Parts: sequence; C-alpha cells; structure tokens
Amino acid sequence: MGPSGSRPSLPAAVTIRDVGPRDGLQPEAPVSVADRIRLVEALRHAGLRRIEAVAFVSPKAVPAMAGAAEVLAGISRPPDVSYAALVPNRRGAELALEAGVDELTVTISFSPTYNERNVKMPVEQSEAAIAEIAALAGPAGIPVDAVISCSFGSPYEGDADPAEVVALASRLAHQGVSAVTFADTTGMATPRRIHDLVDVLGLGAGAGAGSAGSEPWRATVGLHLHDTRGTALANALTALERGITRFDTAVGGLGGSPFAHGAGGNLATETLVATLDDLGVTTGIDIDDLVAAALLVEDLVGRPVPSGVAHHGPRLASPT
Ligand code: ZN
Repeated sequence: MGPSGSRPSLPAAVTIRDVGPRDGLQPEAPVSVADRIRLVEALRHAGLRRIEAVAFVSPKAVPAMAGAAEVLAGISRPPDVSYAALVPNRRGAELALEAGVDELTVTISFSPTYNERNVKMPVEQSEAAIAEIAALAGPAGIPVDAVISCSFGSPYEGDADPAEVVALASRLAHQGVSAVTFADTTGMATPRRIHDLVDVLGLGAGAGAGSAGSEPWRATVGLHLHDTRGTALANALTALERGITRFDTAVGGLGGSPFAHGAGGNLATETLVATLDDLGVTTGIDIDDLVAAALLVEDLVGRPVPSGVAHHGPRLASPT
C-alpha cells in the first residue's frame, strides 16, 4: 500500500435520504398503510433523518402510494427527522402540506421522452409545474428538492450533456427550488460521468471562486443512483471523493421506474452505509438496525432484496 497521503480525502459526514418507502415500494404490489408505517419507523429507528415516506399522486394511477396522509399521520414525528413527499403538481403539493409533510420532492426528467412517459407532459410544462409548487411551498417554509431524472442519459435520447443538465438545474433553482438532486434513473452513470458533472458544477477544492459561489444550490446537490449496471456504489464513491455529501438510496435496493426499460433498483442504503462505515465517514445510521429494516422490506414484498449487505451483513460484525 502507498502512503496514506496518496488517499483521496473524503468528507467527514454524509446525509442519506432513504427513498425506500416511496421509490422502493412504488413499483411493487400495494403494501398496507400499517406496514408502510412499520418500514418508515424501522428506518427512523436505524438513524435515518431524511426519509422519502410517501407520494401524493393519483391512487388510480399509482395504487401502491394510496393513503399517503394516513402514513404521515401514523408515523412518529421527532423534530430532527424530515419526511419528504413526492408531489407531481400543485394539487399534490396542497395535500402534502395539509398532511404536515416536512419537505417536498418533485421530479422532472432531462429526457423529453421519459418525462412524457412518466408525467405525460413536456419538460417545459414540468418546469412550470415545479415553479408553481415552489411558490406554494416557499411561503409555508417547506423546502422543495427537484430530482432530475435521466441526468446521465436515457434509453431514448442517449447520453445527456452535463452542461445542459446543469443548465436545467440552474433554471429550477431560479424558479425557487431549494435543492437539486441528479438522478441516474436507468443506471447510465459511470465514475467518468460523475466527474464530468462535478466539473461542470464547479465544485471541489480546485474549483476556486467559480460559478458555485454565485449559485449556492451547487454546493448542496445530491445524487440519486440506480444500480442497473452495477456502477451505483462506484459512482457514489467517486462523488464522495469530489465532495458530494448528499445521497438518495433505498433500503434493500428496491425500486426501478416502470417507465424506462432496464431501470434497475436504487443503490441499497445498507450497501452505502456499510462502505461509509468502513471508510470512517459518519452517517448517523446503525448498520444492524438498517439490515433489520432491509429484511422487513423482504417480508413486505415477499421476495429477496437485491442487496448483499442485507443478506450477509457488514464485513465485520458490529461489537455488541
Ligand atoms: Zn430511484
């Protein structure tokens, strides 16, 4: 091994938002409200402080997400835990705010075809819908995180130009969203493509007083990674080395869009946490409790989850 000075320096801590109760369960056969509450509680118990718990969408279109207000009413609400709801439009945002959500997530796709299939509108119309949601949430003091799907390419239009993806993010920030998360919906990101994006964002030690300074949203971007081609963890580590400290993951590694062929599951929360524990990067999450939550997910969906850490645990058992 080389001297420790040759190792990349890593952030001391990262923030993980578990999207399992929403992104993970959305494509599954509906799970009861009571069991969805159990899952959210298990994640909170494991130390997750940001959880995408529900979506306020049409129960006809997405039966698995019906009962969002009931889920929010049934979970404990300690002040240090922020529960997010995915909302597609103003009506969804109104319902989410009435239900007392802490944070909204909205999605827009860089891929016009994916956007059309996912939300049945052109990208420009999604931008307008997000501006409307932000105008509603802002005065209520509720942050809005815009998740840009297909940020690294799509099966329809191919590769995504990082400069154009960042331009979309910048427009959304100017329309009032509080944060931007770049999503690799169909597993097209690679470490090289993560570097390309971070270069365009102007982040990191070498970036100097570039555009990141004038646009504060750039310093807080998150990544939402899918493991379609087995690159999700490599992408997360590359991003971490470049100073990105916010990640969306799903307990058990469930998830995958029904609107894009080949969309694989999300990066499993326990896979990322076990790796970060090994690197000494703080997450605030207890790996054993998290593995227990992943096994609960298996029970709820009735099949094994695609996560090695869920089945084998971290490489060294935690001291008891
Ligand atoms: Zn996802």
